[in-house]
Amino acid sequence: MYAPFFMPKNRHIGRFAPSPTGPLHFGSLIAATASYLNIRQYKNSLWLLRIEDLDRQRSLERCTKTIINQLEAYGFRWDKEIFYQSQRTKAYQEAFDRLSDFIYPCSCTRKILQAAQLSSTQRFSYIYPGTCRNKPTTQDLNNCSFRIRANSYEHCFTDQIQGKFCQNLASDVGDFILKRADNSFTYQLAVVVDDAFQGVNQVTRGADLLDNTPRQLYLQNLLGFTPPDYAHFPVIISNDGKKLSKQNQSPEVNSNDKRATLIKALTFLGQSPPDVSEFAHLDDLWTFAIQNWNQNKIPKVLSQVLPQVL
Ligand code: GLU
Repeated sequence: MYAPFFMPKNRHIGRFAPSPTGPLHFGSLIAATASYLNIRQYKNSLWLLRIEDLDRQRSLERCTKTIINQLEAYGFRWDKEIFYQSQRTKAYQEAFDRLSDFIYPCSCTRKILQAAQLSSTQRFSYIYPGTCRNKPTTQDLNNCSFRIRANSYEHCFTDQIQGKFCQNLASDVGDFILKRADNSFTYQLAVVVDDAFQGVNQVTRGADLLDNTPRQLYLQNLLGFTPPDYAHFPVIISNDGKKLSKQNQSPEVNSNDKRATLIKALTFLGQSPPDVSEFAHLDDLWTFAIQNWNQNKIPKVLSQVLPQVL
C-alpha cells in the first residue's frame, strides 16, 4: 500500500491538487500554471491532477467536472489517470494507524476552542491549547477527533521561492487534527500520504500553504517518506487584502479569452511573455511558456495585489 506506484528516478513529478469547492478562478489558474511549468520545463516529467475532494460536504461533483473541463480548455495536459482523494480512505487509515503512538482522541468542540482562543491574547491565528493531551482515554471515542502531538523542534526547510522557513510546531501550531469526529481525514494527512504514493518530488503551490509545510514535513518524517521540494509562489489578493479564493466567491476564470488570461497569469508569476498577438494558438503560447519558464523570476513575496500586475 505504501510503495509509490511511480518511483521518482531522476524524474520530475509534480501535481496540481484543486479542492473542488468551486470552479477555477484566476488564483487557481495561477496555481495550475506555476505547477505545470515547473514540471513541464523538464523532459520526461510527470504532471498529475489530483482532486482533493476529502471534504464531501463542500466538494461538489459538478465543480470537479467544471475544473477538469476548464483545465482541458486551457490546454493543460496531465499524465496518468486523475486521482481522487475520496477514494483513498483505506490508505489514510493505514497511515493513521502507523502514527498511533503520537495520536490522542480529543473531545474539544469548536465552541470550547473558540472560548479558549478568545481568552488568549497571544496570537491572531489559532493554536490548540492541548486541553485533551493528557486526558485518560475513557471518553466516548465516537464524538472525538484525533490529534497528533506536535513536537517543539524547529522544523526548517528551504523553499525554492520564499527561502528558509522555520516553525516550531508546538508553539506555533499546537497538536493538530488528523481525523475528524465524523471520521473523515484531514488535508494534512491526506496530502502527505498522496504526495508520497504518487511519487511527487516537486510541490509548487500558493504561499498561503507555506506555514502548513512544517506539519507535512513532520508527518513525512514520522511515516518515513522522502519530502518533496517545495516552491510557494505569491498568492493573489484583492485591493482589500483578501485572498482570491473559491470561498470568497472569486469569479470563475475567463473562458473566452484564454490566451490573454494565461498571459496575465504568466505576468503575475514574473515571466515576461510578449503580447497576445504574438500567439496565433494557445499551443504556441504554451510552447513559449515552457521554453522560457524561469522559476527564479517569480516574485519572492507571499502575496501580490491583482491590479498592479494586470
Ligand atoms: N487542495 C488545496 C487547494 O485547493 C491545495 C493543496 C496543496 O497543493 O497542497 O488549495
